Amino acid sequence: MQSNLFCGECEFCQRGEESLCLRGELLGVQCDGGFAEHVVVPARSLVRLPAGLDFDTSAALTLAGSTAMHMLTNRAQVHSGDWVLAIGGASGVGSAAIQIAKHLGAHVISTGSTEAKRNLAHRLGADFVVDSNHADWPNEVRKITGKRGVDLVVEHVGGDVLLKCFECLARNGTIVTCGATAGREVSLNLWPFFVKQQRLIGSYGRNRADIQATLEWAAAGKLKPVIDSIFPLDQVPAAFAKLRSRNVLGKILIEPFEPTSESD
Ligand SMILES: [Zn+2]
Repeated sequence: MQSNLFCGECEFCQRGEESLCLRGELLGVQCDGGFAEHVVVPARSLVRLPAGLDFDTSAALTLAGSTAMHMLTNRAQVHSGDWVLAIGGASGVGSAAIQIAKHLGAHVISTGSTEAKRNLAHRLGADFVVDSNHADWPNEVRKITGKRGVDLVVEHVGGDVLLKCFECLARNGTIVTCGATAGREVSLNLWPFFVKQQRLIGSYGRNRADIQATLEWAAAGKLKPVIDSIFPLDQVPAAFAKLRSRNVLGKILIEPFEPTSESD
């Protein structure tokens, strides 16, 4: 299911840019969400699962995986040999960004705040992983790239992290960002930004094509979901408590109750 509901009629929807829909609504934000046994959405929001792909994989990739797909293949492009920095390698977006960038031929650096998260980023294919607890982690990134900096940063945190990403960015480099949980307002020094001819690109949600690509990559084994744990629907508060603890590797899934009667 494409959780950014779209009208299918506006100028953006007509050209397949549903993430820009003029009448877009987020399932679970502007209307009732997915913590239910049944959810009603327009048929145009459904995406067929490729053969052999299970619901858990789809649930774990459909949101964050397709967000990363949109960032790396629609909003920005990755060229073979590029240096890509994926912020938060154990997060939903970060874990998918590492895998997508590697398959596109990039050298990938990621960040992680714990050893377990950094190990996960390595297992997903990151060539280098830096400890984001160190205040000077951008310096580590510059060292890894021979002081050159990276061509592309996949950022989804905002605040000071976004500013640190600029310290990691090469000339002609691009930061693509899709979140601001760590702060919505930043103070950007414009002088190095235009002298180095850099780009800051916003990204929001995904298009239908991004979800289809994400699921096809998953079916082909190129994109693996990272599932931390699975909770039944009646334990949603416990799932949120775990999420807030930040002691999570990848996605937490909520599964609806098994039907108790076939006659319903
Ligand atoms: Zn629309």
